[in-house]
Amino acid sequence: MQHFFVEPSQIQGNRIHITGADVNHIRNVLRMHPGEEISVSNGTDGRDYRCEIDTIGEDEVLCRLMFIKEDGVELPVRITLFQGLPKADKMELIIQKAVELGVYEIVPVATSRCVVKLDEKKAKSKVERWQTISEAAAKQSKRAVIPQVQAPMSMKAALDYAAQMDKAAIPYELAEGMQATDRFVEEVRKLAAQSNGDTIPQVGIFIGPEGGFTEEEIALAQEKAVAPVSLGRRILRTETAGLAILSVLMFQLEERSAEPEEEQ
Ligand code: SAM
Repeated sequence: MQHFFVEPSQIQGNRIHITGADVNHIRNVLRMHPGEEISVSNGTDGRDYRCEIDTIGEDEVLCRLMFIKEDGVELPVRITLFQGLPKADKMELIIQKAVELGVYEIVPVATSRCVVKLDEKKAKSKVERWQTISEAAAKQSKRAVIPQVQAPMSMKAALDYAAQMDKAAIPYELAEGMQATDRFVEEVRKLAAQSNGDTIPQVGIFIGPEGGFTEEEIALAQEKAVAPVSLGRRILRTETAGLAILSVLMFQLEERSAEPEEEQ
């Protein structure tokens, strides 16, 4: 089923007004017709609005809301990836894959060993580009929300932000053993299980750039109760590490209640 994002204001009662580039996509690319069904998200509430196309005009496709799927595709925990600014265009790959894996928000972090230095003007255009990557990946993976890519933060500001979250960890290649990692994953699972739906738990993950984190940055993280955790005995590239821990969390958190009991 085709999936589209609209602004919340375009959902009015049981009428959904699709405008802009999606109109041409529906008319001329997908060649859809009235009566066909599509799914729509407003990018923020995590709901999946299932609609039927009513009329296809030049500038607007009018849809009739059929029903709303509450238990959409979003993870029960909002994961923020604090990504040390990587070299070249790795950030685009990281964003695309993190969105597919269910990340909620991405914060680029200018850590001490980042080779890339972004001034305000460069950062603004980079974030605009990265946000389009996020939106395209959200559409392709039929996410109900479009993960936000925030403006780059310093490590201190990022840690202060993470301190407001329910839990955060900093994968560190010099962390000893997997016990802290297991503890972190278990605590995230518990947060999801205890969540009553009104407030969605928030979790932060810090990934260093190619040069990794300095000892001072790790110490600062520990002061803010951000636990260093190992992702195994191998050194992962910066573009692999975030996706590795996101895959573990996605697997642990993915909805299973709807599945039929397996035959024993
Ligand atoms: N400076 C490190 C070195 O050369 O040994 C490599 C840093 S690695 C390329 C980039 C980031 O990935 C690290 O800052 C860390 O966040 C994460 N990372 C990579 N391998 C890891 C591992 N085995 N355990 C935990 N984190 C890891």
